Amino acid sequence: MSTADTQARPGGTLTALPGDELRQILWRFAERYDLQMLVQAARLVARGPVARLVAAGGRNSHEWNDQKSELLPAFDQAGITTMSLDPEHGGFIEGPKNLAMALAAFELAWVDGGAATSSLAGHLALAPIHEKGTADQRETYMKRVTPLQPGEDRKQWRGSFCLTEPIPFVGVETQKLAGKVRVESWEEGKEPMLKVEKRGRFITNMDFANFVTAAVDSDDPRIKGSCIIILEEGDPGTFDRGAPTRKLVHQLSSTRDPIFSLVVPASRIVGGYTLENGTIVPRFTHSQVIEAVFRRTRVTVGLMTAAKLLSAPEPIIRYHRNRFRGGPSDAPGTPRYDLGLQQKEDVLHRMVDIWATGEASASLGFAAARFFDDFDALDHRRDAIFAESGIPAGRTGMKALAGWQDKAIEFVRLSGRPGSSHDEARSSRNQARHRELESSELVRFLVGDALANVLCPACKLWNTGHGANMMREAVSLMGGYGITEDCPGFLGQKWMDSQLEATYEGPEAVQRRQLSVTMANEIFLTQFEEWIRDMRRVAATHPGTGACTLATAMEIWLWTIRHLQSAKDADGKPLFRDQRQGITFPLADALCWLLASRFQILDVLELEEKGPQNPAVAEGLTGTLRFFTDLCHVQAARAAGEVTRICSDLVFGYNRHPSWDAPGARVYEAEALEALEGVMPGVMACARSMADVVEADGSHAEKAGPCVRFAGMETFMQMRTKICGCGTGAGLSKDRAAQALTTVMIPEALDYPS
Ligand SMILES: Cc1cc2nc3c(=O)[nH]c(=O)nc-3n(C[C@H](O)[C@H](O)[C@H](O)COP(=O)(O)OP(=O)(O)OC[C@H]3O[C@@H](n4cnc5c(N)ncnc54)[C@H](O)[C@@H]3O)c2cc1C
Repeated sequence: MSTADTQARPGGTLTALPGDELRQILWRFAERYDLQMLVQAARLVARGPVARLVAAGGRNSHEWNDQKSELLPAFDQAGITTMSLDPEHGGFIEGPKNLAMALAAFELAWVDGGAATSSLAGHLALAPIHEKGTADQRETYMKRVTPLQPGEDRKQWRGSFCLTEPIPFVGVETQKLAGKVRVESWEEGKEPMLKVEKRGRFITNMDFANFVTAAVDSDDPRIKGSCIIILEEGDPGTFDRGAPTRKLVHQLSSTRDPIFSLVVPASRIVGGYTLENGTIVPRFTHSQVIEAVFRRTRVTVGLMTAAKLLSAPEPIIRYHRNRFRGGPSDAPGTPRYDLGLQQKEDVLHRMVDIWATGEASASLGFAAARFFDDFDALDHRRDAIFAESGIPAGRTGMKALAGWQDKAIEFVRLSGRPGSSHDEARSSRNQARHRELESSELVRFLVGDALANVLCPACKLWNTGHGANMMREAVSLMGGYGITEDCPGFLGQKWMDSQLEATYEGPEAVQRRQLSVTMANEIFLTQFEEWIRDMRRVAATHPGTGACTLATAMEIWLWTIRHLQSAKDADGKPLFRDQRQGITFPLADALCWLLASRFQILDVLELEEKGPQNPAVAEGLTGTLRFFTDLCHVQAARAAGEVTRICSDLVFGYNRHPSWDAPGARVYEAEALEALEGVMPGVMACARSMADVVEADGSHAEKAGPCVRFAGMETFMQMRTKICGCGTGAGLSKDRAAQALTTVMIPEALDYPS
């Protein structure tokens, strides 16, 4: 029996709150000293000046002020300002920085989301330049934002990213820009000068930004399409910072509605431009730039909400334990004194749910951040890879890609099959084919791209959206205190803040819309099939994790999307379509539950494997693993419940019940009824009672539509039945985790002012 599956055996439980060493293993940065240092530095700022400012009431106003301004140099000194920069531009982290950014944001958001946003908005301003800028633009702006070194005499710059426009313009819909660019002057042989008119709404960092990366569209036949353009404070024209946003959240960041009317050289177009027949053609449209930017930065936002959830157990447990202490009849040793509200099962169970959600969302978020680090080199070579593989741009390219998609699918299958490169028994033919496919950058890119396009929106959507719901649960466990400024851990503010995290950088609808497309990519679906097989293998060795439940829920989801892709509703209209958000959006939500639970389980396996090698983690590891395994089980069971509910609604909800059909259509197909025997007793009973008034004739199968369609759903209903059995023991896991909450040691007080 493996260590992670020892929860059935007596002895050992969580003794203390998870420490840094444990987190480093779970989130895979135990070997990254640079990241460990960054975490410590960010934590000092978060639990020092940031926490002091919040505790002193710094959030009581949305206005930017001197006290809030003092956080900026604190970020600089901690390396937070430069963490996204490459070393040649003043940064200190080699290689991709997604995990680094995620960890720093996590630390700041543990205390205050606004502080995290304030620092992240600077990186967001630079991100278009980092991702798509010319070498010259990178050199210029990266160096300008670097904090001053000793002896340097220059102004340090800070930036804003400006996409959102005043109503009725850009918000969720980012295509139709009101911000415009046109040629102001264009002297022979000289750089064209452009006039930019852009108004922003809710733009972060606008109180102090010296440059802005703004999305604009052409208002001139001499400029093609849209672009992101860099605006500077000193450019000729108007650089009006605008009115402050009267926001209820993230008050430690600055947000305003700026107005720009500026003349800038065309060289400010992010990524540069070419001249074609007298027309300025930006190398990248604004959509191409923001897609490259958001696919990374949204993961970081998702981790901010995860941090809030994981910051909640300590203050809540302390509140519950201490709730009745100090009364005349309560003495140490009595349950009322020692356990306080923890005598009540409900508070413990709800706390377990919150903690499990926090772990799952952190697992999903950090897995996504690591994935983007791994994928970074290939991702940035996208255009070169396509060119080298002879894939032209545009529609022709889409056709040329079709064959490569098949290869990518084959590669995923061969990678996951027992007998891949890790299994000596695999046939040499498969091995050779696998190597051949693996050697293709395009194949690897397509697989990575398919995953990237799911992981990023899934993390943003689930972590922030469901996270916000669970933060409300956390607040509720603090009673009235939860909704006061005095709530330890600032939980009330964190609840509100998480709603902003669910909104900015694209609200949930944006993520769901993206997932609606990307989750149906056959490469992803093939990968998902392989993940189901993996989960079954995990279930065999670690049943206590809930892997079996999860695998069945994954099968239900996969069956459902396959079914919906070809199914029609009772009126004969296709179900899985872009416009039918009632179908695609819930299915996207369901997928997120599965992904979060999957990564949570994988993290616990990592802890089981690597924990014994670290003395600080090895001590008490059995109990820690037991607790984390129980959280996995709780979460997997919850995910399975959600997925089953959502999928059942979708599979059945768009059929018309047979008894509702017009008399002429009340025809039940005998075979269909037969096939339903034992799997859907309710429908059987209903159909049988009507059988004497309808004609059981197979030739009327077409008219009998709904009932015949039920017949194809046996597999679905069998899986649904199976999942009930899979949930066995989840309640016991919750009980055990709840029990652990009553004994886990917590510090006397939070390690930050509150
Ligand atoms: C404090 C704060 C800071 C911000 N910082 C920045 C910043 O630095 N830079 C920047 O550019 N922006 C920033 N924003 C703006 C933010 O990104 C937008 O508010 C967000 O993208 C949503 O746009 P919207 O408010 O116009 O919502 P709308 O577009 O009005 O959408 C409202 C709601 O309608 C629904 N909806 C809309 N369209 C669809 C659809 N197609 N399908 C289904 N449902 C839909 C969704 O439920 C959505 O949440 C910030 C916002 C805030 C509040």
